[in-house]
Amino acid sequence: MIYLQVAVPKTLFNLYTYKSDFPVPTGCRVNISFGRTSIIGVVMGTSESPPLDCPLEKLKPISGVIDEKPYWNDQTLELIKFIARYQHAGIGAIIDLAQPVALRKGAPATPRPVTAYRLADPSFTPANKQQQDLITALRNQPLTPQEIRGLNLSQSALTTLLRKGAAERIDLSTAERDIYADLTFTGKLTLNPEQQEALEAIRGSMDQFQVFLLEGVTGSGKTEVYMQAIEEVLRRRKQALVMIPEIGLTPQNIARFHHRFNVPMAAMHSALTDRERLDSYLGCRDGRIGILIGTRSSVFTPFTDLGIIIVDEEHDPSYKQQDTCRYNARDLAVYKGKLAGCPVILGSATPSLESLQNAASGRYRHLHLSSRACVNAGAVETEIIDLKGLELNSGICAHLLEEMKEELSKGNQVLVFLNRRGYASQVICSSCGHVLQCCNCDSYLTFHKYNGTLNCHHCEAVTPMPQTCPACGAQTLVIQGNGTEQVEEYLQQALPGYPTIRFDRDTMNSPGKLRDALEGVLNNHYRILIGTQILAKGHHFPNVTLIALLNIDGALFSNDFRATERLAQLYTQVAGRTGREEKSGRVVLQTYAPANIVLQTIVTDGYGIFAENCMAERRYLDLPPFSHQILLRIEGTERERVHSSSHEIYQRLQKARESFPDVEISPPYQALMEKKQGKYHMLIMIQALNRTSLRKVLPAIDSFLEDRKNSGGTSCYIDVDPTEILQ
Ligand code: ADP
Ligand code: ZN
Repeated sequence: MIYLQVAVPKTLFNLYTYKSDFPVPTGCRVNISFGRTSIIGVVMGTSESPPLDCPLEKLKPISGVIDEKPYWNDQTLELIKFIARYQHAGIGAIIDLAQPVALRKGAPATPRPVTAYRLADPSFTPANKQQQDLITALRNQPLTPQEIRGLNLSQSALTTLLRKGAAERIDLSTAERDIYADLTFTGKLTLNPEQQEALEAIRGSMDQFQVFLLEGVTGSGKTEVYMQAIEEVLRRRKQALVMIPEIGLTPQNIARFHHRFNVPMAAMHSALTDRERLDSYLGCRDGRIGILIGTRSSVFTPFTDLGIIIVDEEHDPSYKQQDTCRYNARDLAVYKGKLAGCPVILGSATPSLESLQNAASGRYRHLHLSSRACVNAGAVETEIIDLKGLELNSGICAHLLEEMKEELSKGNQVLVFLNRRGYASQVICSSCGHVLQCCNCDSYLTFHKYNGTLNCHHCEAVTPMPQTCPACGAQTLVIQGNGTEQVEEYLQQALPGYPTIRFDRDTMNSPGKLRDALEGVLNNHYRILIGTQILAKGHHFPNVTLIALLNIDGALFSNDFRATERLAQLYTQVAGRTGREEKSGRVVLQTYAPANIVLQTIVTDGYGIFAENCMAERRYLDLPPFSHQILLRIEGTERERVHSSSHEIYQRLQKARESFPDVEISPPYQALMEKKQGKYHMLIMIQALNRTSLRKVLPAIDSFLEDRKNSGGTSCYIDVDPTEILQ
């Protein structure tokens, strides 16, 4: 009899022992009965001796085996165990995350058949030039129908060769194929000295683990360095993983890599179907894909022989998963690189303080690109408008409008950035003062004019805009606060004749729309761009000469110690969208606090000095990256229960802390939005200078984490290295 330790989706902590008459390798999926249901688990370990803690007659046999050979390699299993340890989470929760939905549901871990043609008779004598060309091409590689079309080879020559038995049809997904056979390096640029130095450093660490922090202003040619590093990896017949933030993933981005290398590539992101994701996943695992480009979840993809990991815009908040298991894909990428024994490049114009600190302490190697790569890039200047005493129209002052008008009249484009979508951020009754609120959340409802609805941006609730005040019945509802929709409407009236385009989650709800919009911007069809975060990332707008940030004061006065870091990153990134190519650019900030010291530092001295100051402050206050944090989120539908559970958890932690006095534990505090999506939220912050003692207090609450079924629907979630500490 063989005893299998099986990870069961969703359950916490434990592996469960099942028995089997025959060996099942580690890393295979098995069907098991669990409680009253039948589910799919993954074998994490096997042994021939029975477990000591469970009576043998209670052990159930597995009901079936899904995979004959392991579908996870050892590195993937190691990564999963690491996350579970690091996040103090159950392996079951991690295996849910780490595999595409299709595999979770039990789909076979085998690729879809791919038709291709290969040469069957190498001695065949071609009858004409077309047949000759086709034979020459097939001599290197089997080719798919698309590839045959792409190479302009003759379809009728193919038909003839097939009929005469000179070529044959095969299934490429199972065929041996050398994906590196047709590598090209088209369009490679001559590097400037700094790029060259960075590349040499990375090249010197091929086939070994080393993390590089590649810090370079927008347009300094980081992508070119990535590409030349990848070239080296592909020459060594290894694979590359390129991670990019959620919104940066555009078809152009992928095409850029594809043109250069001509190696099979795949993408991994949320807009793909389950089947497409599975194909990408298996393609990488089985060595049929040379480069994977993906968002945070791509870090879980197994590879045959990974040669480099690149994390572009490493500071971007979207690398941190903000629900269930709150892993940080950037940090996992570093561990994945360690397991694979390959270099990891973290690239950014505005590195996170965590990464800067890792560079300062020598854990990461710091590489710099200090100037823009294209010789004729223009300069960027910043103007701060003091809003005190000024009248605003839809959040825009007359002076800014004039400046926009001037740039537009010169044939340039302007970009207006506002991180708030919708038309108006509040609806208020002018008779009774009632503000319309979400019934599931402690939040105000946003008015969306295009469809006449009220929306909650926290739980996605949508209701029609009422005619009368729900509190007093008067027909005196007025709107307040402006979002991107209103700004667009205002600019259409105030600057007629200049087509506008809005980039936010309402307008850009598919990759196709984003692609079309970006195209319309590049060919100068749109002249005024209005948008949220989507506009701050990765896109190249050569004709934009003025960028306005309408509302930055919230970040200056936030209680979150990371708010100024984010503002500095946002400002620097947005400023990087302008002043490319020949034209010089201008950034205009509207604020009520023009003398604010942080704002002045960011604008006058730049991100580097800001980061130094901010680092000194964090060191003084023992904040991350100089200390480590774990945030506990206690949530449930009954407010009283959530509060009492929070206090119970706090008591237990306090007790555990007696042995680890260097750990600080905050009493439970309410989340900024205490009620969200119908649940109440309390937070407990655990902090220590030393990561090891920090983790040692956690077992004190294990029993609570495991009992949560019994704790009246209250759950406690652990967020290690939280990036959102107020909610
Ligand atoms: P980043 O990724 O740092 O924002 P990119 O790699 O996109 O910068 O480069 C910005 C622009 O500079 C691109 O148009 C790119 O083609 C160009 N560029 C990069 N490196 C060089 C180089 N060595 N010589 C000339 N142009 C370059
Ligand atoms: Zn809501």
